[in-house]
Amino acid sequence: MAKTGNIRISSENMMPIIKKWLYSDKDIFLREIVSNASDAITKLKKLIALGEAKEGEPFRITVTTDEKAGTLTVEDNGIGMTEEEVENYITQIAFSGAADFVEKYEKAGGDGIIGHFGLGFYSAYMVSDDIEIFTKSYREDAPAVHWESDGESTYSIEECDKSTCGTKIVMHIAKEEKEFLKESEVRRLLGKYCAFMPYEIYLNPKGKEDEKPINKTEPLYLKQPKDCTEEEYKTFYRETFADFQEPLFQIHLNMEYPFRLKGILYFPKVRKRVELERGQVKLYCNQVYIADNIKEVIPEFLMLLNGVLDCPDIPLNVSRSFLQNDKQVQKIAAHITKKVADKLCELYKNDREKYENCWADLANFVKFGCIKDDKFYERVKDIIIYKNLAGEYRPVESFFGEEVSEEDSKNGKQPQAVYYVSDENKQAQYVKMFKEAGLDAIFCDTFIDPHFLSYLEYKSPTRVRFLRIDADVAGALKTEGAEDKEIEELFNGVLEGKGVKVRTESLKDPAVPAVVNVSEFMRRMSEMNSFYGMGEESNEVTLVVNLSSAAVQALKTGEEDARKLSALQIYYLALLAYRRLKPDELDEFSRNQSLLLEKYLQK
Ligand code: ADP
Repeated sequence: MAKTGNIRISSENMMPIIKKWLYSDKDIFLREIVSNASDAITKLKKLIALGEAKEGEPFRITVTTDEKAGTLTVEDNGIGMTEEEVENYITQIAFSGAADFVEKYEKAGGDGIIGHFGLGFYSAYMVSDDIEIFTKSYREDAPAVHWESDGESTYSIEECDKSTCGTKIVMHIAKEEKEFLKESEVRRLLGKYCAFMPYEIYLNPKGKEDEKPINKTEPLYLKQPKDCTEEEYKTFYRETFADFQEPLFQIHLNMEYPFRLKGILYFPKVRKRVELERGQVKLYCNQVYIADNIKEVIPEFLMLLNGVLDCPDIPLNVSRSFLQNDKQVQKIAAHITKKVADKLCELYKNDREKYENCWADLANFVKFGCIKDDKFYERVKDIIIYKNLAGEYRPVESFFGEEVSEEDSKNGKQPQAVYYVSDENKQAQYVKMFKEAGLDAIFCDTFIDPHFLSYLEYKSPTRVRFLRIDADVAGALKTEGAEDKEIEELFNGVLEGKGVKVRTESLKDPAVPAVVNVSEFMRRMSEMNSFYGMGEESNEVTLVVNLSSAAVQALKTGEEDARKLSALQIYYLALLAYRRLKPDELDEFSRNQSLLLEKYLQK
């Protein structure tokens, strides 16, 4: 006769609550049930090692779907349970464990428990109407037991026939959850949560020959780094991230003390912002998948990488806000950051060529990391490189000037300007002038550079300020003290109403009649505004008219109309080198041009 009883904990009201909270990822139930199976095998293995249990068949977990019967079954050949254990661990503990979880969940105030870890056996009721357990303890004298419950409030327990030790959990899947009976869906879930579990897991095994476990019981990251080959790293990457592009390189983390941390972080090739957002760091706990990109554990900028991390020491059945303030977790995050920085420095030191070749892909990541984490910046600041006009990579600090003393700074002395090119085509005129004058500048063409340069200025306010190459006419480009009121007036006259300031200089390059300057400050302001969606990028420009240009000198002679027209065209030519003309500007420019031609040809 089957014994029946009431489940002690009042769980009647828990199901709807749990169902509601976990609605988005109820599929974790399979992870919980399979991890229990895996734990049961580990326990038996330990007993065998101690000589307290006999060795049997190879360890394995079998998952079977049966659409007709409406059941999903997970079977292990682990330690099994006696009747007493079922009463203690399943009837009482399992439900009280779930009650505990619900309480913690409530305390967490809605910010969630990571991966809903620790929900345990009870979570299977999220998808099942009824669950049966068939189990036989490793103790030879203990009879096998059959337990069954609808998860609401009653259960039954009785002896049954089962000759081998281990546990079989039969979940009668609810009508609305039919998808969990499909082989393809179960395969997907096992692939997601159980890919690295330590014992072989078989799904719907048919014949002996075609059997292949769905998991890798010894994932590469568990091996010692010295025993792994480059080929193995690449294969592991491909299989884990389904990315057919090869990663640049990887960092293999492997430590036991003061906390256990294993994993591999890969640097993918990334150039564009969208690619950066594709990073994925999978967090595992003892080979069981928890979740992706847990920002409480993994420093934000590292989530741009692809990787797997296994940290058994992270308390996962607590709220996210607890994790955020947990000292141990902070230490783990700091350690990961340090390792990444060390690896980059090592590569820079030992293989500069590879480093430079990878830099275009690394740069966004490194710069973003610096902005997010000062400590990371301190570790990598010497290996942040920029290309100069000669096309050579140099550490950014090598472009900085001497420190400006506090005294000098009070007297208005500014730190040395470092000029940068943000768009080689648009700023080509300046690049040419700089090269001819023997001046240098750096190329900044990643999307993060505007922010990063501000960050560098903030970190070294007395040593550097950055100016875009067209922000002013650098000292070495001009001859001092040139001014021409007549020319200035002419330009001011024709440009009235266009919001353009006019200045005359004598540039060393006579081939350029005028250039457009954009104040660094104003430009950054407007870039910022447009970045945050506040209005257009409107740039106030200064027209620098070059007195050494023959064309400009020629403006002093000739007929009034032609002089005015020519001055306007000089302005437009300078503007064209800087940006695209707006429709009304283009219109004026073309009309003026034909007028000028007309005048010239009629002469
Ligand atoms: P947890 O796994 O967090 O302890 P569960 O509710 O998942 O909580 O399980 C409760 C207990 O039931 C486990 O600690 C274990 O003792 C027992 N148990 C569950 N599944 C199995 C199994 N497949 N084999 C043996 N014992 C199990």
